[in-house]
Amino acid sequence: MIVLILPDVKEQSEEFARTWEYLENLSDIKVQKHVVKGKEQQLTEIYLIGDTSKLSQDEIEALPAVERVVRISDEYRILGRHKDERRSIGFTYNGVLFDQENLNIFAGLCAVDNPENVEIMMKALKENGQVCTRMGAYKPRTNPYSFQGHGKKCLPYVFELAGKYGIKIISMEVTHESHVEEIEKCLEETGRPTGVMLQIGTRNTQNFELLKAVGRQSEYPVLLKRGYGITMSESLNAAEYLASEGSANVIFCLRGMKTSFASPHRNMVDFAQVPLVKRLTRMPVCIDPSHSVGSRDSSPDGILDLFHVTAQGVIAGANMILVDFHPNPVQALVDGPQALLLEELPHFLEDVRVVREAYEKRLRLVRPAAAQ
Ligand code: PEP
Ligand code: MN
Repeated sequence: MIVLILPDVKEQSEEFARTWEYLENLSDIKVQKHVVKGKEQQLTEIYLIGDTSKLSQDEIEALPAVERVVRISDEYRILGRHKDERRSIGFTYNGVLFDQENLNIFAGLCAVDNPENVEIMMKALKENGQVCTRMGAYKPRTNPYSFQGHGKKCLPYVFELAGKYGIKIISMEVTHESHVEEIEKCLEETGRPTGVMLQIGTRNTQNFELLKAVGRQSEYPVLLKRGYGITMSESLNAAEYLASEGSANVIFCLRGMKTSFASPHRNMVDFAQVPLVKRLTRMPVCIDPSHSVGSRDSSPDGILDLFHVTAQGVIAGANMILVDFHPNPVQALVDGPQALLLEELPHFLEDVRVVREAYEKRLRLVRPAAAQ
């Protein structure tokens, strides 16, 4: 059950205190508060977890701070969409809005290699009007002898350079809860020049202890990759793990499914599922063309497969793109062959703009003018 607090009720108020006390005293019910920073206002939601079937909706709706109550019985309790609900979708982090309507681009390095390449990348992003990026410091590798990422050593220069070039959010994979602490400590020490989105990779989608640990923080939004060899429902439940612990600002990322049937693509591109995830949940949906395709091959029409699949995700309504670029891919320590070149960045952004516009035109065909 979700209790929505009236938008103008402050947490320090008498009404809130009385409401909270009542809810906290319900027997066998865990009470969890979640603050949603929306487009226009900040909203507070209180989740009642446990057997809520015997609770009286009317009694709770009569509490002084309560706007209304949403009963949820279906799957994905917090992140799912439920019947007749009008809960808000999306959140703002470090001045950037994430919802199921807009589109944010995170172009950047698969793995941080040296400060020079980080700076060249960030500078190119700024010159192209970008405020988000991806930078891998902790790399989960198949081979134990492969480069594992520079880890916490590279964080100070990555964060400082992000600040220098006006980057507001870096998507950065974490593979252990200690990485969250390292990121937090370094951001604090460098004066918070940028923000971080914690990325959980496909190999960790069902690492439940990592999900619970990352879920216990709510400072940073989380980008959860779908598991490459599990069902959609299992991946969406993994996202719900984050929310059930208190971290509901989650973006769900499609990144292809592991199968030899897709070869020579690295994975089977699954961007047809963008609308499906948007229908089942309230999460913004990201696509990762780089880890889906895994190469710079192009089709006879001259367009790179990477551009083609990005277009497929965007025309289906994707809300975020995570994509690998590198100033000099032969020097890249991870995934060089799939990296786009910096001189391709303006072309990539223009291609995305063309397709996004087509998506918006498609929306106008189904939405009455008044609803736009
Ligand atoms: C990545 O984005 O760097 C990555 C390792 O992706 P995935 O977890 O999807 O393989
Ligand atoms: Mn990679």
